[in-house]
Amino acid sequence: MSTLELEAREFHPFDAAGSSFIYLVPSAAVFRLDETTEAILDHLSAGPRPVDELCRSLAGRFAEEEVRSGIYDLMETRAIGPRGAPPEAMPVEVPSEDFPLTTMVLNVTAKCNLSCTYCYEYGEDQIVDQTSMPRYMDEKTARESVDFMLDQAGDHEVVNLTFFGGETLLNFKLLQSTLEYANRRGAEEGKRVRFSLTTNGTLLKPEVIEWLADNDVGVTISMDGPKDVNDQFRVLNNGMGSYEMIVPKVKKLLERHTTRPIGARVTLTQQNLDVHRIYRHLTEEVGFWEVGFAPVTTSSCHSYALDEASYQSMLEQFRELAFDWLEHAVQGRHHGFSNVRESIEEIHKGFSKAYPCGAGLGLVGVATDGDVNLCHRFAGSKDHQLGTVRDGIDRSKQAKFLEEHHIAYKPDCHSCWARPLCSGGCYHEAQTRYGTTSAPNLHYCDWIRSWTHTCLEVYGALAERNPSYLQHFEA
Ligand code: SF4
Ligand code: SF4
Repeated sequence: MSTLELEAREFHPFDAAGSSFIYLVPSAAVFRLDETTEAILDHLSAGPRPVDELCRSLAGRFAEEEVRSGIYDLMETRAIGPRGAPPEAMPVEVPSEDFPLTTMVLNVTAKCNLSCTYCYEYGEDQIVDQTSMPRYMDEKTARESVDFMLDQAGDHEVVNLTFFGGETLLNFKLLQSTLEYANRRGAEEGKRVRFSLTTNGTLLKPEVIEWLADNDVGVTISMDGPKDVNDQFRVLNNGMGSYEMIVPKVKKLLERHTTRPIGARVTLTQQNLDVHRIYRHLTEEVGFWEVGFAPVTTSSCHSYALDEASYQSMLEQFRELAFDWLEHAVQGRHHGFSNVRESIEEIHKGFSKAYPCGAGLGLVGVATDGDVNLCHRFAGSKDHQLGTVRDGIDRSKQAKFLEEHHIAYKPDCHSCWARPLCSGGCYHEAQTRYGTTSAPNLHYCDWIRSWTHTCLEVYGALAERNPSYLQHFEA
């Protein structure tokens, strides 16, 4: 006789490919239910039950041994537990202060040759006064930044250096000399430096393309889709659209630079929301390997900020594209929708984030004057500065930041099943929306939960239909 009473604990159920699954929130693991475990959870959904009663009520369908084994499995995964047991404590451990740096984003210029009307660096959304910063990073600061990066990388053998702007290629000379210096210094330190950059594509001259290809530099192009879409916001200083200027150059880049996948990064606005059309254009007509979409980061007062109906439309289109991605993956084929690929990787690796991203931890942004900030979007913001490349990171400032931004200090998120993957969302968006980096982005919770649910469905279906494809995410 067992009088132990059991109750369901914290999980999120979902169905995929005809099977039932649960996403176990505290451990961020995915568990496939069989008939017995599904029946046990079904019974417990009405409230706590003693073990013996569970066995009795399921006796017509399963042998007692099966039920007890199912109970054991569910207790092992912590999907169920003794009635009244305290909820699993939120991990409060803050990373140690010598947490190594894996990515440094170097803002080589604060200047841009486009005037994209939605850009977060300008207008009311700006959190950094661009005029207070040097327009271009100089050679000395770039070298000091590389030394800083290698010094902070700890035992990591590979470090990522991402060049960023303004328009990154406006400081092409500095990119060339910095890459050379980083390669030499990296070799001296026994480390490999992986380079990447983000550009608006306007300055992709033949010699730049050669250099990117010869040096295996990863490239992301910011562009928004077909001409009529792209040119609504991505304009030159004279108001002319940038599409015609960019596309022939991007095509040459894609032809020449084939060692690393080249992606487009699209900003979605209230006016530009035809995700399917944008995706097809950028992959089939321009030839990008993959496309990532992000809603514009802005306060809700702007005409281009997405309203609720737009978030819903974006979600529906993302869902369709995600299932398209699934069908490709089932057949072992590539599909370039990077939003779903990134989420599937996080689910597969069991990510349980104490922080939404690596900003201020394994990732920092360096401003043109050498100030070290949370990430590239905060480059130059004195309020979000962690140190300088010359003096290093101010560990007490960093520790305070990490403590205040830990998921344990976001009570609004504690009962949310999506927290292992969201953890409150982007600090920059929080700063723009709520005036503080420490606020969770509660304006998009429904969206995040629905999107995470879709990704779980895709993951479960892939695990059922072509589990070997998941090896792509094991590197
Ligand atoms: S911000 Fe919203 S969706 Fe994200 S973890 Fe917090 S409550 Fe959940
Ligand atoms: S704070 Fe936002 S923009 Fe910066 S790295 Fe994190 S998610 Fe990206």
